Amino acid sequence: MSTIDTVAVLGAGTMGHGIAQVSAAIGCTVRMYDINDDAVAAGMGRIRGNLDKGIARGKVTEEAREATLANLTTTTRIAEAVTGADLVVEAAPESMELKESIFSEVDAAAPGHAILATNTSSLSIAQIAASVEDPGRFVGMHFFNPVHIMALVEVVWGPATSEDTRDAAVDFARRLGKEPIVVKDAPGFASSRLGIVLGMEAIRMFEQGVASPEDIDKAMELGYRHPMGPLKLTDLVGLDVRLGITEYLHETLGSDAFAPPALLRRMVEEGKLGKKSGQGFYTW
Ligand code: NAD
Repeated sequence: MSTIDTVAVLGAGTMGHGIAQVSAAIGCTVRMYDINDDAVAAGMGRIRGNLDKGIARGKVTEEAREATLANLTTTTRIAEAVTGADLVVEAAPESMELKESIFSEVDAAAPGHAILATNTSSLSIAQIAASVEDPGRFVGMHFFNPVHIMALVEVVWGPATSEDTRDAAVDFARRLGKEPIVVKDAPGFASSRLGIVLGMEAIRMFEQGVASPEDIDKAMELGYRHPMGPLKLTDLVGLDVRLGITEYLHETLGSDAFAPPALLRRMVEEGKLGKKSGQGFYTW
């Protein structure tokens, strides 16, 4: 297995800037790509903000901040981003068409040994991998938000992913100080599939008058030591986002556990999307 020294991150948004930051922090040379100057500047601004907050909290030293920033460059050209890369991590918007077109461009410009990873939270790894010539070097690396804080990385193994590629992704996640888990390419991977069941059942319980949102959340927080109850979490993620995921899982897995509750549909129609709209199961 060759070592990963140079990393290209495609997309500088919520996830991309974080993946670029943690990769640069362990000493990798990182090139962060986005579609225009404003987007890459915004991503760099968020990285600086994270590092400054880290210093204020005593978690990051001035030297580490400077070293991390020195390892980072940005570009608005994909070919430039992936030239010489050992690992490419794509964190562009969640669209199959978009990811397929990005990876056909990456495939033509990245070195033959480079591992190609997507941070998709739901799409089929096998289908995205079909857009590259050698799907053996393709893998899912599903990071969590905020990337510089959350410990989990789901390494998602497609039917064609080679064992070397899977092991290299696991190894790289460990180097980042993360806890990788290895999951087969099945809808919802491990995290969303379980998390959504809990979220949907909590909504059904509230709908049926079993308990208040506060008490349903407390049941999991105090009884099961979850850091946050399923309804509060749904408010944070966004009711519209969770509705989209549960519809997809209902369609692909066929289990009624994922059938969208009528209350969830109604709240989304009424614009009650959770924290971002000011109202969900809680008032924010
Ligand atoms: P985002 O909207 O915050 O950022 C996406 C970035 O991609 C933007 O900066 C946008 O300018 C850029 N972009 C647009 N077109 C592009 C292209 N052709 N090539 C490269 N970049 C392009 O989105 P996000 O929340 O960072 O999500 C990115 C991916 O990560 C998605 O697949 C999403 O499902 C997944 N994901 C998101 C979360 C989360 O909590 N936000 C968690 C895990 C995984």
